[in-house]
Amino acid sequence: MFETHPDSELGSETEILKGKTISPGMVQGIVHVHHSFLDLPDIPPEAISLNDVEKEFSRLNAATTRVSDDLAALVLRVAEEVDSSLAEVFGAHRLILNDPALREELRREITENLVDASTAVRHVFRRWEKRFLLMESQIARDKSDDLRDVSVRLYNALVGITANPLEEIPSGCVLATSRLLPSDTIFLADRSVAAVLLEYGSFGSHFALFAREMALPCISRLSGLSDIHREGALALVDGSTGIVTLRPTCRQIDQFEKKVRTLAKSLGRAQAHAMEPAITRDGVSIAVLANVGFCQDTENAMRNGAEGVGLYRLEQAYLGRLEPPSAEALLADMRQTLAAAKGYSVVVRLLDVGADKPLPFIEFASESNPALGCRGVRILKEYPELLKTQLRAILALSQEYDVRLLIPMVTLAEDVMVVKKHLLALCGELNITTPPQLGAMIETPAAALSARQFAGDVDFLSFGTNDLTQYAFAADRENAAVEPYFNDADEVIFRLMQLTHDDVPEIPLSLCGELAGRPEQVARVLQCGIRTLSVAGPLIPAVKEAIRHSNCLVSAVTKPQRS
Ligand code: PEP
Ligand code: MG
Repeated sequence: MFETHPDSELGSETEILKGKTISPGMVQGIVHVHHSFLDLPDIPPEAISLNDVEKEFSRLNAATTRVSDDLAALVLRVAEEVDSSLAEVFGAHRLILNDPALREELRREITENLVDASTAVRHVFRRWEKRFLLMESQIARDKSDDLRDVSVRLYNALVGITANPLEEIPSGCVLATSRLLPSDTIFLADRSVAAVLLEYGSFGSHFALFAREMALPCISRLSGLSDIHREGALALVDGSTGIVTLRPTCRQIDQFEKKVRTLAKSLGRAQAHAMEPAITRDGVSIAVLANVGFCQDTENAMRNGAEGVGLYRLEQAYLGRLEPPSAEALLADMRQTLAAAKGYSVVVRLLDVGADKPLPFIEFASESNPALGCRGVRILKEYPELLKTQLRAILALSQEYDVRLLIPMVTLAEDVMVVKKHLLALCGELNITTPPQLGAMIETPAAALSARQFAGDVDFLSFGTNDLTQYAFAADRENAAVEPYFNDADEVIFRLMQLTHDDVPEIPLSLCGELAGRPEQVARVLQCGIRTLSVAGPLIPAVKEAIRHSNCLVSAVTKPQRS
């Protein structure tokens, strides 16, 4: 979205671009437009004769081996120099590259269509990418970035391209480009890029995770961004609002710098008290925990004053695998992810997948509306072995950590009962006398309005307002077209939380959706009876500070202050 403002003061045109925040932060810098080489060239197929088929197979094999070796080296280098979650991305790329089905399809493309290896790579990867792009879930669509990344590597190895143009970008620039691949992050890590502006890129992509981890401001969905006349323009990037001001006036620069100073001051204040407890004005102590998926998230969160883990999304331990992990493998993953939180309470959420977040080793039935289909606990009920493996791993972990167990996407009392039955049976089998505390995610209006029916079987409830909003407003959380309908801070959501609290006042309530991380909504959230917030690590200091300025009781807020 663009607005232009003729600016007589500078004799040039100021442009205001509005996009979607991927990673917050405010910086200014000079725009460098980077024309990505991500699209494989659209050139006519290179035909071969039957006699050349074997030669093309050998070229393909040699290129595959070279890329596979490069990726293995990259895994080690990134783990050492950047972080191990990013290294896992390249490990996953290696798995994609060596996937037998993919290799078979590439060979078939060469023999059946008599094309050279580089043409086969272009055709086959495009087909695979399309399949992922057609999938409903953002996670599946984000996978298409990984496929693109692997295809570009393989294609370049075949045609002899060795350099990445990102090696040339000036340090300290505001990088403007159409999209970035996971492997591009390695080049950005080496340079001090001030901010990244993208035409395409989703909040859940690998690059987005990396940007947030690196505290690199990033805004996406800025269409027409790579227009060459933006090269060299001064940009004020406000990653918190998603607004970019190009060629600003002196007044705009002044205002921006003032906002940066205010932000830095309040962040500094919050940071200074990050390790202290968060107590409201009316004296209520609120637990501020962390949402994590990788071990870096946990480390980062503990450094930022987390008082434990409020949501460990187990999906990360499954989505990169071609086979289901054993309980031992899962336990090893959990130990690694949670190591920094040892001694604190940790809430492990059971796997939340379905046709919207497919697993390579489960044949999910195709559903016309996966968000309303078999996902979360519904899948676990259908695949009890998948559930039992997780429960075994979690019970083993409970011998070392103060573990609580969270059930995703609860709708019916029976959803809780089934998990509890398996949990208690396994506890009996393993001679565990005190089962971990059990909690239900409240992510559907039905669960919010019927909590009384399963309250007797749980120790706590955790609101997942991302899904609760999606289901309350019938608006896909990933679909930009219905964004105006998706407002997780709407009174509707607060009312659902309040009604739940009124129905089951004895049950401790947490909130682990993105709403918990918005300082300006904290007071309203606490007034609904929520006493535990779980948020991304970097947000903890600001959330704690907001709690210190809030009251839990509505009357305390509205009561006039005595002078
Ligand atoms: C939620 O829905 O708010 C939630 C925390 O779960 P997820 O974002 O993983 O679906
Ligand atoms: Mg959810």
